[in-house]
Amino acid sequence: MSVPLKILLVSTECVPFAKTGGMGDVVSALPIALKNHDIDVRIVIPKYSFIDVKKYHIKRHIKSMGVQMGNTQEWCSVDKTITDDSIPVYFIEFDSYFKRNGIYHDNEFSDYPDNPKRFSFLARAALQLCKDLKFKPDIIQANDWHTALITAYLKIWHWNDPILGGIASVLTIHNIGYQGIYPKLHYDYIGLGEGNFTPDKFECFGAVNFLKGGIYFADMINTVSPSYARETKTPSGGFGLDPYLRKKEDRYIGILNGADYSQWNPGTDCFLPCNYSIDKMHGKVLCKSALQKRLGLELDQNTPIIGVISRFVSQKGLYLLSQCIESIIHNMNVQFAVLGSGDKQLEAFYGTLPHVYPGKIGSFIGYNDELAHLIEAGSDFLLIPSIYEPCGLTQIYSLKYGTLPIIRATGGLDDTVEDYNEKTGDGTGFKFWEASTHSIYYTVGWAVSTFYDRKCHMKKLMKNAMKKIFSWENSAFLYIDLYNKAIEIKNNEV
Ligand code: ADP
Repeated sequence: MSVPLKILLVSTECVPFAKTGGMGDVVSALPIALKNHDIDVRIVIPKYSFIDVKKYHIKRHIKSMGVQMGNTQEWCSVDKTITDDSIPVYFIEFDSYFKRNGIYHDNEFSDYPDNPKRFSFLARAALQLCKDLKFKPDIIQANDWHTALITAYLKIWHWNDPILGGIASVLTIHNIGYQGIYPKLHYDYIGLGEGNFTPDKFECFGAVNFLKGGIYFADMINTVSPSYARETKTPSGGFGLDPYLRKKEDRYIGILNGADYSQWNPGTDCFLPCNYSIDKMHGKVLCKSALQKRLGLELDQNTPIIGVISRFVSQKGLYLLSQCIESIIHNMNVQFAVLGSGDKQLEAFYGTLPHVYPGKIGSFIGYNDELAHLIEAGSDFLLIPSIYEPCGLTQIYSLKYGTLPIIRATGGLDDTVEDYNEKTGDGTGFKFWEASTHSIYYTVGWAVSTFYDRKCHMKKLMKNAMKKIFSWENSAFLYIDLYNKAIEIKNNEV
C-alpha cells in the first residue's frame, strides 16, 4: 500500500481567518478535498491581529521559534487550531510584522512598505516550523509571490537538510498581475545571495521580482484555470513573465478552482432569509425582495437585478462599467446591486450612484460576506466585466444560485460559463469578448431582453446553471497528479 502524501500549504490568506479574495477560499477548500484522499494536509498563515482567537479555538503551540533572516535571528511564536474539517492550521505570530489590521495594506489601501520583509519572513518561518515539528511534507505548496520564496529556499539553502532536503515544491499562481517587485535592497534581507540575482531568476530591470524567482525554482507550477494557464504564456497575459513560463511549459498546468459548496449553496446558505433549490425556487423570490429592501431598491420582482461583487481594482473592468452604467440605467429597466471596495475613485463613484439613481442602484462600499451571499441569491444576473480573470469564483457561485453570469470571456470566466444560445436556450450565461463599454452595454442588453422577452429561456438557463458543479473533488485529483509529478521531478534531480 502506498504511503499517504503529506502536503504543507503556506499562504497569506485562508478562510475563515483572513481573506481578501479567491486565494483565501482556495487555501481553505482544497485541503478539505485532499483530506478525503487521506492526504495529511496542513496550512501555515500569519497570525494577523484581526483573527478571532477565541472563536476559532486558537492555542499557543510553540512558545519560541528562531528564524534566521539574513544575518539576524528573529524569534516568533506559533499558534495552532484544528478546523471543523480536521485540518491543522498553524499561525506564525510575529508582532512587528503581523500585528496589523490588514493583510497587505491598511484601510487606505496603500501597501505596507515592509511587505517583502513580512512575507519572506513567513516563508522562512514556515520552513523552520517543519524542522521544529519534525514534519517532513512531500510537498510544500506556495501561493503567489508572497510565499514563492519557499521554492528557492528549499533548493538553495536546504537541499541537504535532514527534514527539508528532498521536499518538492509547487507554486500556485492565483494572479500573475501581482509579482512582488521591490527595490534591490529588499533582496539582501531574503538572503539568497548575489549569484541568484540574475535576469533568469530574481532580477527584473534592477529590482527584485519574487514571483519570477519562484517560477525559476519551483518543481511544478500551476495556475487556477486552463485558459489562464494559456493566457499567462502570452505577452498580453503574462505581465512580463510569459517567457519564463514558456520555458517551464512542461511543468506548468492550469487546474480550475472548485467551489466550497458547504459555504455556497442556496439550499443551505445560513446568510439567506430563505433557502431554495432547483426544484423549489420560491426562496429566490424572497431573497430578491430582501436584497431590494437591504439596498434601498424599488420592491419589484419584475425588474431584473444585476449584481456586482468585486474588489475594486483595475483588473475587474469596473472603470469600463463606470463609463456605461448610467446609459444602462437610462435606457433599460434594470436595477444594480453593487458590493465592493478598493480603489478610492471607484469607491466614490459607486458609493454615490444610489443618491443619483435612488431605487435603481444600491451599493455597499466595504467588505461584507453576508451581503455577498445575498447578492448572489437575490440578483437575476451577476456582471463580471474583468479585463483578465485567473479563475473567478463569484461566477461559479452565481451559477449555483441560479443567477446568470454576464462575463467577459477571459481566463476562468471563459472556462466556467457557457454562452447562451438564443435558438435553443442552451447555455448558462452571457459572454462578450471585447473589453469595451459597448460590449458591456450590449451584452447587458441581451441579458435584460432575455429576462423580459424570453422567459422560458430564462428559466431554462437558470436550471442549466444550477446543475453545473465545479467541485473540489474533480480538481483534487488533478492536484494529486500535480504533486506526484513534482515529487518525480524532485527525485530525478537528486
Ligand atoms: P479575486 O480573488 O480576484 O478577488 P474571485 O472571484 O476569485 O476574485 O473571488 C472573490 C471572492 O471574494 C468571492 O468569494 C467574493 O464573494 C468575495 N468578495 C469580493 N469582494 C467582496 C466584498 N466587498 N465583500 C464580500 N466578499 C467579497
